[in-house]
Amino acid sequence: MKLVFATGNINKVNEIQQLIPDEIKLLSLNDIDCMEEIPETQATIEGNASQKAFYVYTNYHFNCFADDTGLEVEALDGRPGVLSARYAGESKNADDNMNKILAELKNVTNRNARFKTVISLVMDGKEIQFEGIVEGVILKEKRGDKGFGYDPIFIPNGYDKTFAELDMSEKNKISHRALAVRKLVEFLNFKL
Ligand code: IMP
Repeated sequence: MKLVFATGNINKVNEIQQLIPDEIKLLSLNDIDCMEEIPETQATIEGNASQKAFYVYTNYHFNCFADDTGLEVEALDGRPGVLSARYAGESKNADDNMNKILAELKNVTNRNARFKTVISLVMDGKEIQFEGIVEGVILKEKRGDKGFGYDPIFIPNGYDKTFAELDMSEKNKISHRALAVRKLVEFLNFKL
C-alpha cells in the first residue's frame, strides 16, 4: 500500500519508513507532484492536521497522514496554539515569537505550557487522529541553541534543561511529535 506523508521533508519520510512494515511504501508530497501550498485555515491544531490529510486524499487520491503542532500556554488561554508558526507575524520568526510570549508572561506566575502534535491519518476516506503532548513550563529568558521554534523557552516537566539544551536524540525520545508518531506507527503495524 502507498501512503503519503504530507511533508516535503524527505528526512521525516525516511525516519518513519524505517518504523513501519515494508508493505507500506511512504511517499512525500514531492513524490506525488504536489507542489502547491496545502491550505491550513482551520481554528485548531486538530482541524489543520485533518484539513491537510483530507486535501491530499481528495485531490491526489492517496491515503495520507499529516501533522500539525502548536505550543499551548495555560495563562494565555492556550495561545499561540494553532497560530504558533506566525504568532508575531507572517515572517514566522522564532525569536520574535518567543519574545512576544515572554512579554505577555512578564509578571505572570503561572508558566505552565504544553506542546501538542496531532497526526491525522485518512485511509479510504476514514480519519483517525493520534495525539502527542509534552507538558512543561515557559522560562523567563531563552536558554540553549539547539532545536528550533520555541525550544529555548520551554523546559519539559522532570528536566532542568530546555528543549534547546537537550541533544536532538534526547528531545526526539520524549517530544510531542515522537509520541504522536509512536501511536501512528503502532496503529499501522497492528493494521497489517
Ligand atoms: P508545525 O505544525 O510542525 O509546522 O509547527 C508549527 C510551529 O510550532 C512551528 O513553526 C514552531 O514555531 C512550533 N513548533 C513545532 N514543533 C516544535 C518543537 O518541537 N519545538 C519548538 N517549537 C515547535
